[in-house]
Amino acid sequence: MVQGVGFRPFVHRLAAELGLGGFVGNDAAGVVVEVEGPSANLATFRRRLLAEAPPLAAVASLESAAAKAVGERSFRIAPTEASGGERTFVPPDVAVCEDCLAELADPSDRRFRYPFINCTNCGPRFTVTRRLPYDRPNTTMSGFRMCAPCAAEYADPSDRRFHAQPIACPACGPRLWFEGPDGLREGTDAAILAAWEVLAAGGIVAIKGLGGFHLACDAASPGAVRTLRRRKQRPDKPLAVMVADIAAARELAVLSEAEAAVLSGPRRPIVLLSRRPGAAVAAEVAPSSPLLGLMLAYTPLHHLLLRPVPGTGQPPPRALVMTSGNHSGEPICHEDTDARERLGPLADAWLTHDRPIHVPCDDSVVRLRGEREVPLRRARGYAPLPVQLPFPVPAALAVGGELKNAFCVAVGGAAWMSQHLGDMGSLQSLDAFCRSRRQFEELYRITPEVVAADTHPGYQTRRWAEENASAPLTLVQHHHAHVAAAMAEHGLGRDARVIGVAFDGTGFGDDGAIWGGEILLAGYGGFTRPYHLRYVALAGGDSAVRKPYRAALAHLAAAGIEWSEDLAPVLAAAEGELGVLRRQLERGVACVPTSSMGRLFDALSSLVGIRHVVSYEAQAAIELEIAAREHLESAAEYHFEPGDDDFDAAPVVQAVVRDLRAGRDRGEIAAGFHLAVARLVAELACRLRGATGVGTVALSGGVFQNLLLAELTCAELAGLGFEVLEHRVVPPNDGGLALGQLAVAAHRFGDRKGA
Ligand code: ZN
Ligand code: ZN
Ligand code: FE
Repeated sequence: MVQGVGFRPFVHRLAAELGLGGFVGNDAAGVVVEVEGPSANLATFRRRLLAEAPPLAAVASLESAAAKAVGERSFRIAPTEASGGERTFVPPDVAVCEDCLAELADPSDRRFRYPFINCTNCGPRFTVTRRLPYDRPNTTMSGFRMCAPCAAEYADPSDRRFHAQPIACPACGPRLWFEGPDGLREGTDAAILAAWEVLAAGGIVAIKGLGGFHLACDAASPGAVRTLRRRKQRPDKPLAVMVADIAAARELAVLSEAEAAVLSGPRRPIVLLSRRPGAAVAAEVAPSSPLLGLMLAYTPLHHLLLRPVPGTGQPPPRALVMTSGNHSGEPICHEDTDARERLGPLADAWLTHDRPIHVPCDDSVVRLRGEREVPLRRARGYAPLPVQLPFPVPAALAVGGELKNAFCVAVGGAAWMSQHLGDMGSLQSLDAFCRSRRQFEELYRITPEVVAADTHPGYQTRRWAEENASAPLTLVQHHHAHVAAAMAEHGLGRDARVIGVAFDGTGFGDDGAIWGGEILLAGYGGFTRPYHLRYVALAGGDSAVRKPYRAALAHLAAAGIEWSEDLAPVLAAAEGELGVLRRQLERGVACVPTSSMGRLFDALSSLVGIRHVVSYEAQAAIELEIAAREHLESAAEYHFEPGDDDFDAAPVVQAVVRDLRAGRDRGEIAAGFHLAVARLVAELACRLRGATGVGTVALSGGVFQNLLLAELTCAELAGLGFEVLEHRVVPPNDGGLALGQLAVAAHRFGDRKGA
């Protein structure tokens, strides 16, 4: 990534310093530099080119060759050509940099307290880009005419704002204002003070940010958070909290060095952290979770909002809930008129501005396992960075899944995953999908020759593809796509084969059952299914997702255990429900066989009495993971029974019930269950390696958002000498599905062409 990140001015400065002549320019593949001068200086140039590159640049490779000297003394920056294949580079949005923050706080600077300060090293990118190349007329800043001082900075290669496309100042750029019940407040400080007033009174302020609107309220106020939850119809799902800086973050959460680095890095994702006991955050922010989703201020406006206003003596808010401006299940609002309509009833006031947002983009969410970032939601700061593909592909579109949707377009050696778009259950979501897909195809000038979708006949994305795709559609089985996604992001070649462990909540199986506990032997071209979790009959199928106690009842029945009243899930069922369920199971009416590992985690969560009904996906499993963490030392011993082509959870469920009846600590049971799953994976992987010689294991699927399980599984596998592929680029959940669909479809397409 060397375009739109200040790379050319950096090269210009370096060459000038070393007295070298020549030029630097962008081309389709990256940056081309021609330099001439004394050979010692050329060597220094080459070394420093990598060592001192701008913070946002990422250099994949550097090639050089000798050229004939032509006697050039001066060094110049070649203009970007409007044609030329500059399609690989729309940089992601970048958090405001230290230099800009210093100017923001400097009363003598002309951008003192200007909420839209930015430079070549920071600011909006993806969300303001209308088309490529990434130049000001092609951004939503085109309507703002640069004033003379801004234009001078923009044109000066030695300036930090040389070709900073969203460059702006109070004289020529966007403006901030506040709208509340008492009318309008213009001027930065007046607007911010008015917003504080509403927040301090427990109100909710809609704040326009980079990729859309946030709904903000005081994170320390139980009443304010309850109001927000009620209006947003979001009863339990944890809300993200924003603070000014890392010191404020440390007051609320326990941070490792690696977590602090990600939290304060230029991408500024929401990081799920261990909440500090007694932290000044209302319990309502993340009920019953010891985790807290924190992010640091990332736009100049956020910094102004969370720091004192000079000359007032008023304390700024310490921590704000900042949740996506939408109703639950709908995409984030980013257009002014649409936001008015949809968020109007939710917000008491508005802190907004006139810089249009072209591309909606939510906050990203990550967790850290040791030093490593595990993406849970890939959006702002990450999208649309390209993913390098291990083999060339035709122009292709993969539409992704149904929940946590992100799609993928690709051509040649690069794939672009869209930002997280959300669940496809609403019309608005499908609209957002269509709009975003058009944007990506236009941005990268891709006309798909092949389109990929999930095999699930009920997925909106598959229906969309069937009705609208202008290229042949190829269907990819859900768990095959999960495994292929892990293979692709690790750069495995066309003919690679892996042991694919795809554990998730639900996916459409080739036999019509709900799959989700799958051990596959897979390549891009296809897969076999040597092992899966033994089917249990799940009354109501996918509708049981919200009711973990139903998954527990299903597993109890499958294990031959009576639904007696000393068991938590039995007590959790409504009156009369047990009879209905029993009859359903006996007659096989409205029962779907499932091998879902996600449902098994749900079942355990309910069985040990942690969570019987959920209001957001994976809630029960997350709480089970948390309960298990502290008890690994004293964990119970459980063992799945592997058969010829499946593995049976019944012995585990039976042993768990025995332990519960003996009064064993539920944390020890939870820990024992995690260990049993990890050991099962290792045992089956060994069997498969013995039979096939394949020694690489790919871990994918939403269940691996459970970092304790990921950690234990990796440890078991690594101890046995396996190479383990875990997700680092795309999420293990369905947010990463499209990448796998794309790789599989491209592989099939290549085979057809070759034949
Ligand atoms: Zn900056
Ligand atoms: Zn200006
Ligand atoms: Fe999945």
